[in-house]
Amino acid sequence: MLRWLLSRAAGDPRLAELAATSPLVRPLVDRFVAGDTLEDGLRAATELAAVGATLTLDHVGEYVTDEQDADAAAGAYRDLLARSAEEQLPAGISVKPTQLGLLLDRPGCKARVADLAARAAEADAHVTLDMEDHTVTEATVRLVEQAHADGATNVGCALQSALHRTPEDVRRLTRLGAGIRLCKGAYAEPAHVAWQRRVEVDRAYLEAARYLLREATYPRFATHDHRLVAAIKREAAVLGRARDSYEFQMLYGVRDDLQRTLVGDGYRLCVYVPYGTEWFPYVVRRLAERPANLAFFLRALTSGDQS
Ligand SMILES: Cc1cc2nc3c(=O)[nH]c(=O)nc-3n(C[C@H](O)[C@H](O)[C@H](O)COP(=O)(O)OP(=O)(O)OC[C@H]3O[C@@H](n4cnc5c(N)ncnc54)[C@H](O)[C@@H]3O)c2cc1C
Repeated sequence: MLRWLLSRAAGDPRLAELAATSPLVRPLVDRFVAGDTLEDGLRAATELAAVGATLTLDHVGEYVTDEQDADAAAGAYRDLLARSAEEQLPAGISVKPTQLGLLLDRPGCKARVADLAARAAEADAHVTLDMEDHTVTEATVRLVEQAHADGATNVGCALQSALHRTPEDVRRLTRLGAGIRLCKGAYAEPAHVAWQRRVEVDRAYLEAARYLLREATYPRFATHDHRLVAAIKREAAVLGRARDSYEFQMLYGVRDDLQRTLVGDGYRLCVYVPYGTEWFPYVVRRLAERPANLAFFLRALTSGDQS
């Protein structure tokens, strides 16, 4: 229920505006988002690269409602790829299909993905399509398939263990050789498409992870769940997988301790670094994952202190 309410809040432009003007919300935003500008994103990425992590950068934004915004988002990613190559950062990009106009015009979205993939390939960078709510899952998987059919093998996507369909998607994209980021899923989804209990989502995650460790060339495990991290490490060791043949992925500002330990122990870690001004839905999803932060956020939002 709480998750559902938060997911409604994430899409509310009035709340987004309120949050943007509340100085009390800023500390929470700063925890999860590197800053408003490309320079902020690059600065955070440079610091993380210095301690041995690789990066995937997200110019935050989603569900754009006109073509101009989709073009602007693609332009922001082009700038990001150019600057990241200039700075020689070990960085790829994470992009939401609805930010590139998936819900407006599929061919246009496909063309933007193709353009970004070509530019990323020049820098040997990976493009991950973030997975959004279940209504766009099939379209997102198809974008990956179309990219591969057109030779853009550096395009992959996230898959969510919460969804019932995911085991089939995992096999489908593994057969294709596409990069898969396995995550639990950050969206409140109905029972006819998704597991509702944490224990079910975790079990599904582990099953998909085991499949990927057996079958995939380079799986990406996005989780901060220390039990899953430990299970993946164990399973990989049993299968004799080299530590550089898979990676863990974690979000900027979440479980920094675990991030440091993984790098220190010689595991690959890729940190997801979001930046930009359209951070509201991203931050609300982080709150939904960790309700402990929520009371503080709501107090800040409703305190009336807009100074
Ligand atoms: C790199 C990356 C990319 C992702 N991409 C997508 C995507 O494309 N689509 C999608 O739906 N979801 C995505 N997610 C989010 C993911 O689906 C989960 O919602 C999120 O990672 C929380 O699940 P968990 O696996 O960390 O486990 P949990 O059981 O939720 O958390 C384990 C522990 O991690 C810590 N933790 C987790 N989340 C937070 C938080 N927000 N704040 C503070 N501490 C926290 C807590 O200590 C918690 O006990 C991504 C996650 C990562 C790490």
